[in-house]
Amino acid sequence: MSTPSPDPAPVTCFLGEGVPLAPHTTLGLGGPARYWASCARVDQVRACLPWARRRGLPVQVLGGGSNVVFADEGFEGLVLHVALRGVERVADGTGVRLTAAAGETWDAVVEACVADGLAGVECLSGIPGQVGATPIQNVGAYGQEVSQVLVEVQALDRHTLREVTFPAVDCGFGYRHSRFRGEDRDRYVITRVALRLEPQGRPAVRYAELRSRLEDSALDAGERGAPALRRVRQAVLALRREKSMVVDPADPNSRSAGSFFLNPRLSRGELEALRGRLPAGTGIPTFEAPDGVKVPAAWLIERAGFPRGLRLGGAAISDRHALALVNRGATARQLLALAARIQEGVQARFGVRLEPEPVILGPRGPLASGALGAGPACQ
Ligand code: NAP
Repeated sequence: MSTPSPDPAPVTCFLGEGVPLAPHTTLGLGGPARYWASCARVDQVRACLPWARRRGLPVQVLGGGSNVVFADEGFEGLVLHVALRGVERVADGTGVRLTAAAGETWDAVVEACVADGLAGVECLSGIPGQVGATPIQNVGAYGQEVSQVLVEVQALDRHTLREVTFPAVDCGFGYRHSRFRGEDRDRYVITRVALRLEPQGRPAVRYAELRSRLEDSALDAGERGAPALRRVRQAVLALRREKSMVVDPADPNSRSAGSFFLNPRLSRGELEALRGRLPAGTGIPTFEAPDGVKVPAAWLIERAGFPRGLRLGGAAISDRHALALVNRGATARQLLALAARIQEGVQARFGVRLEPEPVILGPRGPLASGALGAGPACQ
């Protein structure tokens, strides 16, 4: 006679032991996960969390692995891979409400919207990763941000195991920021995201870099719908490919976590202090931001003496973009050592602190933001 399992959670979803993490990340770095679960249903996520809690295991939620650095030692807890699928669209007044499960591939959703003439995400083409990750850092590019079209986020509270809905106004969105990256970091598993898109809408062309690229393909001002959106998508993809920011196994420069540092925002005072550290007359590229200016991190990195292509062991700065760190046969330790060296060099030269964009994990959980040189993975 078989005895009912007192702890059925692990069998409700695929649970492996000692699963290598590197293949699940775009950087291709990291040792094994002690436990690995791939959850295709919300009830599986709900079952895995207490299963890990009872064993005193830390849990790391993983989507597309495009914004994460796992330690060479791996992860000593449960890596919970979000494999929730499904996309629905319903008419919503003059718009379309699109609800996508967190495990959907973001760029596939964008591609389908563009093909069907739904405007609002076309500039977010080619961004790697899954739908569920997009609200966390309020993914944005070329003047478009997911928060501009986001209606609500559904999530599972990791403590209470209840499903919660956050309307956009409650998500605490800022520049590459939200409550899910701030005060509520690691509190929720995002399960679904709802967007409101404009049928037969006009593409957003706000950045000069994008506009000049589109001049070649003759996008008429005011042009709407799928053909115009498609041209913008193609222009964005071309720009991103030139910077190796589209994940492509044939492009070794794309074996990265995208931008490794956030573009810093400086107050007017900080900008003046930066000017004071440069030879008189040096033109600093700046862009207006709500509370000061944005300065491209790549510009600071290159001028602090870290050129594209620079290598430290198997870790390198991309040949195509100084903001991307590339695995060319590196360990996580080497990559983080290179990141720490860049961070220290920019701080020493310009007095500007670059904050890492990816989640950097030690064997038991995230390392403090900016603590590149401090964690076990970097010693
Ligand atoms: P980039 O276009 O060289 O821009 C570098 C910095 O300059 C960014 O802070 C960007 O602001 C700002 N900037 C450039 N042109 C601007 C304009 N016309 N108006 C206002 N600000 C301007 O950066 P990149 O690394 O090649 O990336 C291209 C785009 O992808 C950027 O928009 C970047 O933010 C975005 N991106 C987003 C993520 C993410 O969401 N996690 C990751 C990588 C890249 P913005 O950042 O506000 O655009």
